[in-house]
Amino acid sequence: LHPAYSTLQAMAESNRCLYCYDAPCVTACPTSIDIPSFIRKISTGNPDGAAKTILSANIMGGTCARACPTEVLCEEACVRNVAEDTAVEIGSLQRYAVDHLMARDLPHPFKRAPKTGKTIAVVGAGPAGLSCAHRAAMLGHDVVVFEAKPKPGGLNEYGLAAYKMTNDFAQREVEFLLGIGGIEIEYNKVLGKDINVADLKAKYDAVFVGVGLGSTNDLGLKGEDFPGVDDAINFIEKLRQTEPKSDMPVGNNVIVIGGGNT
Ligand code: SF4
Repeated sequence: LHPAYSTLQAMAESNRCLYCYDAPCVTACPTSIDIPSFIRKISTGNPDGAAKTILSANIMGGTCARACPTEVLCEEACVRNVAEDTAVEIGSLQRYAVDHLMARDLPHPFKRAPKTGKTIAVVGAGPAGLSCAHRAAMLGHDVVVFEAKPKPGGLNEYGLAAYKMTNDFAQREVEFLLGIGGIEIEYNKVLGKDINVADLKAKYDAVFVGVGLGSTNDLGLKGEDFPGVDDAINFIEKLRQTEPKSDMPVGNNVIVIGGGNT
């Protein structure tokens, strides 16, 4: 649905950026990526440098380039909207840069600081937990991540629509992130059942809890718990883990409540 940029397209699009002073796109980015700098690096033929700029602010820049609603964030704020009615396609440029770096078997782009001797427990191997783990590892700490599910990635793996995250991107991104070293993941460890915060606090130097917001609000309708009634997050999780996707039973007569993207 959203093909990746070719090098020629990336060069053409990156040259539309005005390298604004006080760039409004950066203010609109929830992770404060230095957008004009990374775009300038693409336009001068340095996509790996662009990727490093992106990933130094947001190690999940590859997923964000695919899943972020850029049209209401950085791209909505782009000054090109005023003159030309079309923003610089920041999301596609970001994807181009990060994919360019990740597609090759290069050494991890960040180095660990000398070991501090401290070990940090992170609960949850989703975007928050893994981002925290990566930064802590970079600062020289050792990290143990406890994940409730059998796979890492959190919502990137279980909650994003399949068409946005093709070719197992969530898992490839986790592998890339773990390339920093010093991070261990323990799977099937549920907080409150297999592990608890008090024990973790006693054993580790610090504890980060990033269990996410995986539940949806119930509608409060009668029959919501009947078989065949599913919420969006559960539905996407099942679809993401079903192969081939055509094996996923959806029923013949379906009612969808809600007219959003999902
Ligand atoms: S607002 Fe648009 S033109 Fe200005 S720096 Fe950001 S992407 Fe470039």
